[in-house]
Amino acid sequence: ARRFVVGGNWKMNGDHATIDGIIAFLNQSGGNSDVDIIVSPPAPYLTYVKEHIKNNILVAAQNCYKVAKGAFTGEISPAMIKDLGLQWVILGHSERRHVFGESDCLIAEKTVHALESGLNVIFCIGEKLDEREAGKTKEVNFRQLQAIVDKKVDWSKIVIAYEPVWAIGTGKTASPEQAQEAHESIREFLKEKVSQDVAASTRIIYGGSVTADNAAELGKKGDIDGFLVGGASLKPDFVKIINARS
Ligand code: 13P
Repeated sequence: ARRFVVGGNWKMNGDHATIDGIIAFLNQSGGNSDVDIIVSPPAPYLTYVKEHIKNNILVAAQNCYKVAKGAFTGEISPAMIKDLGLQWVILGHSERRHVFGESDCLIAEKTVHALESGLNVIFCIGEKLDEREAGKTKEVNFRQLQAIVDKKVDWSKIVIAYEPVWAIGTGKTASPEQAQEAHESIREFLKEKVSQDVAASTRIIYGGSVTADNAAELGKKGDIDGFLVGGASLKPDFVKIINARS
């Protein structure tokens, strides 16, 4: 069985005071031994969160570059993330793709380098509203995935996050049926393009306006193996999302 995984992507939010509050409710929660819990603070706070968080909660960076070091002002590398004692990075988030113009190719290069550097990757994909309305949801998801299929990556270190762009930060959650349909098609794609084993074992998590109210229904679907949560991960409700299946 695939282990449930719930990520909290804090995006560019938080300062020491608010982060202390988040750490406090997470530490009080007791965690959940059936769930991989991963929080992703902004880069300047990675060490602070790692040092204060308990309950086996993991800490992820929100991004990294495709080489280990050098003249790349403003970037951080997987080697640095490893050096902080961390094991996870989020790559290909829709905000990286659409606000910062990252291409499928760059995201694939970053993913390969992060994996080779020993990190695990939450690899985000998902269609925009106009793409869904044009019936291109699968096409977009498959194209974004194909970029790493072409590179022959270690799938045991990848979690796929399906995050339809129209659902992110909008309060418009995908229905459990819409999410399940997308996840099922992604698993089918992995079966065809990679292997039956990888399709069966890879965790595919859903992101986009997940809340304490909708998490339980989403989490009942067979191909939804967890969540990547934005706004709600900053609030005590995040604990309810972590425990949505328990
Ligand atoms: P929201 O949960 O705020 O919609 O954000 C989802 C997301 O982008 C997580 O990576």
